[in-house]
Amino acid sequence: MTAQILDGKMIARRIEETLCAEITAFAEIVKRRPRLVVVLVGELAASASYVKSKGDAAARVGLDAEVINVPATIQTAALVAIIESIAREENAAADGILVQLPLPNHIDTLAVLDAVPPDRDVDGFHPENAGLLSQGRPRFVPCTAAGVQHMLVETGIGTAGKQAVIIGRSDTVGKPLALLLAGHGVGGDATVTLCHSRSTNLSFHTLQADILIAAVGRPGLITAGMVKRGAAVIDVGINRITGPNGNGKLVGDVDFDSVCQIAGWISPVPGGVGPLTVAMLLSNTLRAAKLRNSNG
Ligand code: NAD
Repeated sequence: MTAQILDGKMIARRIEETLCAEITAFAEIVKRRPRLVVVLVGELAASASYVKSKGDAAARVGLDAEVINVPATIQTAALVAIIESIAREENAAADGILVQLPLPNHIDTLAVLDAVPPDRDVDGFHPENAGLLSQGRPRFVPCTAAGVQHMLVETGIGTAGKQAVIIGRSDTVGKPLALLLAGHGVGGDATVTLCHSRSTNLSFHTLQADILIAAVGRPGLITAGMVKRGAAVIDVGINRITGPNGNGKLVGDVDFDSVCQIAGWISPVPGGVGPLTVAMLLSNTLRAAKLRNSNG
């Protein structure tokens, strides 16, 4: 068997087309475009590249996007003050505010994320939005988790009654995804197992999976012997391989070449979940603008 490719780029393009029309219609009514402000701390090459992709995608769909660069030496209180001042801006008020992660180690990341007003928290990381998601009444869903669910729904991979195994329990990816897949309705109703670094016998769990999602950050973690024949395998991991044979190549957590012989569907890295993460951010930003507009 050779798995069908879950083409994130193609799905993201379709989302962008729809968003473009919706943003044009919104802008005609309210006489302004939805606005996204991204705060980038420091000069990590990977973060700068993600922020550039977000800005390029925002421009393609007609969002007004701005990046605020902050030096890596900034302290938590000063960064919180910057976010508060963006939120207070009167004239060019941001509908969505995003702080690119990871932040330097000396910064209290939770304090910074808590400073983003929950009604502009387009990354969905504020505790109010995490709470709403856990109660099954989501406002802003974390973009990567939403992107994975969207990929399943768009491809027609049913989740109801299926065994979904997620590896990785971060607040930003694994946990919200577990809530989405275990929730009610389309793209949900799965039986979810959430594995992590302290899970024993990982293969025992992964071999049960109709839908297997790897969100760890460890190249080659998932091999063919860990995958049930015909399963949908979604690779969230992004790892840059350096050293003599790597050449800086990007790979996921799944050993693509062997797993695609066993799986029914597989998402590539790059070109899988990444583009959907960006598309979900655009979608959350439009949603934030609509919510603010309807609340006066
Ligand atoms: P994280 O470091 O916050 O979490 C990693 C998780 O993996 C932890 O919950 C940990 O318990 C688990 N883990 C670590 N080693 C393990 C092992 N040997 N077996 C089982 N579980 C193990 O990372 P994150 O922010 O959730 O990101 C995970 C990966 O996804 C990274 O590679 C990141 O770059 C990538 N990512 C991709 C996108 C995208 O858009 N494609 C978005 C966010 C993150």
